[in-house]
Amino acid sequence: MDEFIQTTADEAHIKRERAKARELRKTPYFRDLLKKGICHYCGKHFPPEELTLDHIIPVARGGKSTKGNLVVSCRRCNQGKSCQTPVEQLLDELEKNGTL
Ligand SMILES: [Zn+2]
Repeated sequence: MDEFIQTTADEAHIKRERAKARELRKTPYFRDLLKKGICHYCGKHFPPEELTLDHIIPVARGGKSTKGNLVVSCRRCNQGKSCQTPVEQLLDELEKNGTL
């Protein structure tokens, strides 16, 4: 299925979008989300320093640092996700559950 999705992004894009994400982290919108401290994926509560901004579509896969593509995630969920797209995560989960 790899031929249907972009699997690489150029270095300049990755650098630019990661820098933008760091800047966005300081904006009132994300500061507020971080203060609330709820992980988008597991729904648990964490102190702000344990949370990261996570790209729903990973930067390495062509995703951008925009409000719509960034969610608050705990480190564990963020790492577990690595650089999969939402569709790939879903497929993975279905496979694990034996639904597929
Ligand atoms: Zn989490």
